[in-house]
Amino acid sequence: MFVTLTCHAPNAPELGHLLGKHPGSVFERAFSAGTIWVFYPEVAEDHLTISLVAEVDPVGLVRGPASLSSIDQYVNDRPYVASSLTSVALKVAFSSAMSGKTKQHEERLAEKVRWVVALPAIACDAGESLIKHIFEPLGYTVTITRLPLDPHFPSWGQADLYSVRLEGEQTVQDVLSHLYVLLPVLDNSKHYSVGDDEIEKLIDHGGAWLSSHPAREQITRRYLRFKRAFVDSALAQLVEEEQKEAAEEQAEDEKEPEKGAEKKTTSPLLEAVKGLHEQRLNAVMAAVREVGARSLADLGCGEGKLVSMALKESSLERILGMDVSSDALKLAHRRLHLDSMPAAQKARLQLVQGSLLYRDQRLEGFDVAALVEVIEHLDPPRLSAMERVIFEHARPRRVVITTPNREYNVRWESLGQKLRHSDHRFEWTRAECQAWAERIASAYPYRVRWQGLGAEDPELGTPSQLLIFDLFPSHQNGLPKR
Ligand code: SAH
Repeated sequence: MFVTLTCHAPNAPELGHLLGKHPGSVFERAFSAGTIWVFYPEVAEDHLTISLVAEVDPVGLVRGPASLSSIDQYVNDRPYVASSLTSVALKVAFSSAMSGKTKQHEERLAEKVRWVVALPAIACDAGESLIKHIFEPLGYTVTITRLPLDPHFPSWGQADLYSVRLEGEQTVQDVLSHLYVLLPVLDNSKHYSVGDDEIEKLIDHGGAWLSSHPAREQITRRYLRFKRAFVDSALAQLVEEEQKEAAEEQAEDEKEPEKGAEKKTTSPLLEAVKGLHEQRLNAVMAAVREVGARSLADLGCGEGKLVSMALKESSLERILGMDVSSDALKLAHRRLHLDSMPAAQKARLQLVQGSLLYRDQRLEGFDVAALVEVIEHLDPPRLSAMERVIFEHARPRRVVITTPNREYNVRWESLGQKLRHSDHRFEWTRAECQAWAERIASAYPYRVRWQGLGAEDPELGTPSQLLIFDLFPSHQNGLPKR
């Protein structure tokens, strides 16, 4: 597998220093999948080419450390195509360049020069359009040639393999980080499973440009291989990145008022998602305060955003975060800094694994139970199990539920006809949501109120909907259940 990068710039050899490799020598290093070589086929005053060659041992991959053992065939394309292994190799070969460390010519780190990247074979199950879709917004001109399955047998047709040439003005760090993040996005047979540190890698290397990339969600999803909790966490962190950038920009603008005119605009979908999420959590917390709750169960807590807000609410003495996914809980554990949390704080909090579909005594006795963007993840035939678990057995004084309003999706063009998330089993219209709520209120001793969440469209309503169920006072304080 090999990749060549050519840059065109005055005093090009200086850029070789930024890449951290001496133009006169060959760098050789063993890496987890084989061996890497880096060398310069061409060095001239006005351009230089650097090549990365990796010899991947496919048998070694199978026998290697557990993290690489998911390739279950001895014969595969890994040695030949630019893939996630290329990212690993890039990181080994150019780690200091990728993190912007250099001993010389630091002043050229921010310089954009013309790069031509040649990737003779990329495996991409999603076709040419994805390759263009993810590289073009970053300023590359993309030239793609689809490769035949076997040039000797044209009748076999074409393979999901592409020869790709990228050309664009980039800094050294950017061109490397684009390849590092985006090659695994194209490659659908990522060789190692998604772990916590994958998010950090994505944020480290993609944070600066990914937050404003129009295909940000698709990139994140494919990079993290569709793992819901990880994708959510990564998207949330990217939103934070963008918020930070916006705050920094604003600070800059305040210093230099004339810069305001060039202010970067953010994608409407991102704005909407960001604002909505905050509004949802704030609305839930307002509903928690309204009843003077002393305990809260966040059911389907995900990475623990609501739990984190709840911990700041001193009136809450007992907080439970429950999720069915151990990955989500690990993330919550990490994001809440549970290991270093002061004992008094920790005593208020419990994170447990469990499912909303099974009766669970741990869910009983709470003032408020919240299901924030969870219900639409349950298969419709199983909703009735959840209903009994919550409204018959756990029976909190108040149940707060948020869920998307499907009618509003047409306003987000980039969603197309799809639901808002690939794991959503359904999304309700306003009428469907209200009908469900009314049925619950007639079957269990609760009264319900429906509320729109987010900016209202006169025809489509609000993007999100909120249901607040309150237990009849006569059923509180341990009075008989239904
Ligand atoms: N409430 C969080 C997460 C929403 S994503 C937030 O607003 O950020 C939906 C969450 O529901 C995921 O973390 C998923 O693991 C969880 N989930 C899905 N089915 C579940 C079930 N049967 N029981 C408990 N949690 C479930």
